[in-house]
Amino acid sequence: MDFDLTEEQVQLRDAARRLAQNEFRDKAARWDREEAFPEENKHRLAELGYLGLSVGKEYGGSGAGLVSTYLVIEELAKVDLLTAMIVHDQNVSPRIIANHGPEDLKRRLVPRFVGGELECSIAWTEPQAGSDGTAIRTAAVRDGDDYLINGSKIFTTFGDRADMHLVYVRFGPSSGAKGIGTIIVERGRPGLTVRKLEGKMGVRGAAENELFFDNVRVPATNVVTLGDPLNSRGFVRPLTIYNGTRVGMGVMALGVAEGAFDLAREYMKVREQFGQKLSEMQGLRWMMADALIEIEAARCLCYKALALIDAGKPDPQLCSIAKVFATEMAQRVTVQCQQMFGGYGYFGSLPLERMVRDVRMLTLTGGTTQTQKNVIAGHIFPGA
Ligand SMILES: Cc1cc2nc3c(=O)[nH]c(=O)nc-3n(C[C@H](O)[C@H](O)[C@H](O)COP(=O)(O)OP(=O)(O)OC[C@H]3O[C@@H](n4cnc5c(N)ncnc54)[C@H](O)[C@@H]3O)c2cc1C
Repeated sequence: MDFDLTEEQVQLRDAARRLAQNEFRDKAARWDREEAFPEENKHRLAELGYLGLSVGKEYGGSGAGLVSTYLVIEELAKVDLLTAMIVHDQNVSPRIIANHGPEDLKRRLVPRFVGGELECSIAWTEPQAGSDGTAIRTAAVRDGDDYLINGSKIFTTFGDRADMHLVYVRFGPSSGAKGIGTIIVERGRPGLTVRKLEGKMGVRGAAENELFFDNVRVPATNVVTLGDPLNSRGFVRPLTIYNGTRVGMGVMALGVAEGAFDLAREYMKVREQFGQKLSEMQGLRWMMADALIEIEAARCLCYKALALIDAGKPDPQLCSIAKVFATEMAQRVTVQCQQMFGGYGYFGSLPLERMVRDVRMLTLTGGTTQTQKNVIAGHIFPGA
């Protein structure tokens, strides 16, 4: 078992660290305050080739693998979860299309995602189909060379700005996973309405949206995975990509926790009370030791899960374990680190307040903690 990063991975990680610390860190509060998308950050990420790290070279990506991709994302998450999510998201729908879509769509779209020219949101969740992702009702009905789409989606991240949406739909009357597939719906198609959800707790520069489809016509050539009412293949095939996505949520949580930890450590070296530095107080030192134990455990789980995917031996149970542990760990660690700042940490003038809010979403999206525990338990008790 080899825990060493390659020379190339170390260079990639260090370059991402410099970028995050020198260019992104000090702007993070602004995107949150103004609920603005960091357009200039995205531009830099595209320029540096970070938007297609995990996409194969044949489609314009780097083919760098998930370990390398998430080493970059972890560094970005240390200072700004929103910017980390840009890289994460641009490595999800393009990978679904690149791995499971028809050749024409791959060639037409994926290189443009990698270059940052196009963005694609994922529109899966519906009001009645949250954790129960196979309860979707949005339907695609064949009409000549096209499909007509009717239904609605909720919580579509970046749905307001995405050039297109990867929409989970039912192809023909069916229930459960059977008949579900995915299709691309471009922004601006007649009958498609997008409405931003207001009042989001964290990562405020990434809008969540409702999408409404009223007889939206799209060509059949936009189908990524065709659903068949007789089987669940159109649904199951893209799911393989979500193994990495889940762990990716864990890595982003790890990054936020590390960012909070670094800030707390530095503050503890200078803040004095009772004639002592905080870093000299035994109770606080142990809190930091506990935080580091959790951070290192999360790192091992996440990167082991990613390395197995890169090696072509994905372990879905381990992916869920890594997601649950790392995202729950980050809830605890960011709050403990905020505690080191006393009353000052409660204010938005310090990043801790934002980090605590931001990291909350990672136990919800990409499969909630509870549904991931159901997956883990399903492996412990198969068939039960
Ligand atoms: C910030 C954010 C971004 C998101 N981005 C996207 C996106 O881009 N695209 C998209 O399609 N969706 C997105 N989602 C939706 C997300 O995937 C869902 O919110 C999630 O699947 C949970 O569904 P729900 O909110 O309907 O909660 P529910 O399914 O109603 O769950 C409510 C509670 O019950 C628990 N629960 C449910 N079923 C079980 C069970 N069987 N056993 C034990 N506990 C259970 C859940 O864990 C949760 O705590 C996003 C959500 C958020 C908050």
